[in-house]
Order: sequence, then C-alpha cells, then structure tokens
Amino acid sequence: MTGSTFDAVIVGGGIMGCSTAFELAKRGLSVAVVEKNAICTGSTGRSSAIVRQHYSNELTARMALYGLRVFQNFDERVGGECGFEQRGFLVLVPMADREGLESNVALQRGVGINTQVLQPEALGELLPGADSSDLVAAAYEPESGYADPHMTTNAYAAGAKRNGARFFLGTEVTGVRFEGGKVVGVDTSAGPLGAPIVINCAGPWGARVAAMAGLDVPVSSCRIQVAVFKRPAEAAAPHPVVLDFVHATYFRPETGGLTLVGLIDPAEADAVVDPDDYPEHADDEFTLDVGGRWVQRCPPMEMAERRRGYSGLYGVTPDWHPVIDEVPEGSGHFLCTGFSGHGFKLGPAVGLMTAELATREPDPEFDPSLFRLSRFSDGALIQGRYDYSITG
Ligand SMILES: Cc1cc2nc3c(=O)[nH]c(=O)nc-3n(C[C@H](O)[C@H](O)[C@H](O)COP(=O)(O)OP(=O)(O)OC[C@H]3O[C@@H](n4cnc5c(N)ncnc54)[C@H](O)[C@@H]3O)c2cc1C
Repeated sequence: MTGSTFDAVIVGGGIMGCSTAFELAKRGLSVAVVEKNAICTGSTGRSSAIVRQHYSNELTARMALYGLRVFQNFDERVGGECGFEQRGFLVLVPMADREGLESNVALQRGVGINTQVLQPEALGELLPGADSSDLVAAAYEPESGYADPHMTTNAYAAGAKRNGARFFLGTEVTGVRFEGGKVVGVDTSAGPLGAPIVINCAGPWGARVAAMAGLDVPVSSCRIQVAVFKRPAEAAAPHPVVLDFVHATYFRPETGGLTLVGLIDPAEADAVVDPDDYPEHADDEFTLDVGGRWVQRCPPMEMAERRRGYSGLYGVTPDWHPVIDEVPEGSGHFLCTGFSGHGFKLGPAVGLMTAELATREPDPEFDPSLFRLSRFSDGALIQGRYDYSITG
C-alpha cells in the first residue's frame, strides 16, 4: 500500500465509515477505508440497532426519518440486505413527561414521521399482559423496528466497493499528516496513504484518532451491557421495540424468540474503559437488575430464561450528540465520531451529510453545523427539549 493516494481516506469500518465511503464513492471519489480490525467489529457490531424516530430536535428527527426510509428500501437505495424488521416502537413516559411527549410527537409529525400519542389503556393491545398502571402516556411509531447491524454495515461496504472503494482491513492508522495547514494523508501499520480528505469515523476510538491530528475531542469510550432472555412459550410472539423511561430500560425482540434488554441511563457514561481491553460479558448483577425492570413492565416475562449477554462500547460526548465537522476549517480533516448510544439509525443520513460536507456540496436539509466541535468550548451543548431523554 505504501505510497498509494486517494481522494479520501476514512478511518474506521463501522456504520459511519462504511456509509460515508458508500456516499463518497457513489460521487466518483477514490476512497480508502482503513480499519484496524474487521468491518463492524466496533460499537456497531454490538448495537441493538433500534430504528426509531422519536427525537426532540428537528434535525435528528429528520435524520432518523431519512434512515428509516433507507432501511425500508435498502436493496434499492444501497444494495443487499439490512435485516430490517418492522415491529413498531413504543416510548413510555411517567406523568411528569406527558406534556413533553405530546409536544415531541407534534414536532415529529410536523417533519412527516408516522407517530401518535396513545392512551396507556391501548398498550395492552400492542404489548399483551403489560402493566400500564404507572403510565400516563405513550407514543407509538408503527413503521419503526430494528435492523441487523452486521448485514447493514457489510452491505454499505459492498456498495462502496462496487463503486471502487478499497478497504484496508487489519490495518491501523497511527498518524495523521498535515502540510501547510492542509491534511495530506495518514500513516498506517502498513505504510502511508496520501489524501487531501481524511475522515475520522473511529467511533469510541474517535478521541485517540483526533489526538493524532492534534485535536482534543471529548469522546469517552464507555462499556455498555446488554442482557439476553428467551421469552416463555406463552409470550413467545415478537413484541414491539420499547423504550420505557419509567424503568429506564429498553427491550427489543431478536430472532429465535429472544429479547435484548438494556438500560437508558446517562450514568452508563460513567463506565469509561479502554476500548481495546474491557470486559465483554454482561454482569450477573446487571442482568438481574434489567430483567427485573422488564418483568415489572411485562409480568408474563417472569418465566423468561436467561441467555448469555454481552457488552459493547458507546463513544459518548458531553451532550450525547456526535461531532460532524471539518477541523481545522478548510484543512480537509473531518470528524464524524461520538454517536453515543443512538448512532446506528442515523447512519444512512450521517453518510450522506459527511460526504456532502467533505465534497463541499452543502444540503440545507441536513446542515451538520449543529454538530460542530466548537459547541463544547462555547458552552452551546445540544439540549433535548424534554427531560425524559438522554439523546433528545
Ligand atoms: C450495546 C449497544 C447498543 C446500541 N443500540 C443502539 C440502538 O438501538 N440504536 C442506535 O441507533 N444506536 C445504538 N447504538 C449506538 C450505535 O451502535 C453507535 O452509535 C454506532 O454504531 C457508532 O458507529 P461508528 O461507525 O461511529 O463506530 P464503530 O462501529 O465503533 O466503528 C469505528 C471503527 O473504527 C476502527 N478504528 C478505531 N481506531 C482505528 C485506527 N486507529 N485505525 C483504523 N481503524 C480504527 C474500530 O476498529 C471500529 O471498527 C448501540 C451501541 C451499543 C454498543
């Protein structure tokens, strides 16, 4: 590889690196993706891959809707399979958040999202046996669900390759080179690669790769656990995806009659770990805790059998929103990292936005300036418009 040059080098072969490579290659750029391991082995490979639209910022809501349309028409839009399962999505909130839920649903409907506020009594039809006694409101998205993160990311990589992109797997980026304030390429474990565009899509490793460019980017790598259960025979039918803010949990069905259960708690960002060396199992204590919360909402799951859980990584920023920016401005060096716990569904829109940013073809519908790096030093963190979300 030594001495090869490309129009763009992308660091990282997760959903962001592969969707960005696909969009750039489609535009005729020669693209190299450098991945230190294999495709989809970082955060994306452990993702619960929930595809929902419930956001309280108009931009993220529009990005999520764009993503849903891509997942629904994946073969036509990208090529191949993404494993999208339309199971419906429910968000359950306590009394204090009713008003916030209603105003968010109004915002989402305003950008074209198919969503509605449900009375708690209606929950039983969607989630048989659910306890709704502590609920005052729920929102429902009939078109949402989840996808398969491996199928999705590999399909994006295959689409990028069909358009001429090259993938350097098992190859680590070790340095980012600049000349006269412009990026000129990267150093890797297999030699240098030249390019006037370098894009950091390194997920939970984003801060480390940014440091190679002399930048301090606040992305912490955090261990996130997922518990897995086999539903009992009498409740074996797949259920909708649920975000339950009363019990601070999410649960979504998986193939084989399984359900994945995780937390939606900002305190998860306290579990900062070395992304190259962290415990990859789920702790017994965690499994018992989230399993208990799930049963409180869905008593028929009391007889669910425990299966082997696992841990993955979130690359978390101070406001749980990503950085999509050119830094320094005009340098050709781009950041596309810090997607915290909600990046997967945004992947199709992020690939588009990052490619447009890098090729200087701005699209007013998806202006990424909300995600600029300087918001952290300016104290202009992105705020959710409601209290019940950590990723508003
Ligand atoms: C348990 C869990 C559940 C989640 N659930 C959801 C969900 O339901 N819905 C949702 O939308 N999102 C969810 N997410 C979040 C989502 O998966 C992430 O935001 C998204 O996958 C981040 O993708 P990425 O491409 O930025 O990072 P990654 O997938 O981590 O990709 C970065 C890649 O960069 C590579 N790399 C790093 N350093 C270098 C280097 N120096 N040289 C070369 N390569 C390098 C890494 O090996 C890695 O493959 C979840 C995440 C986890 C962990």
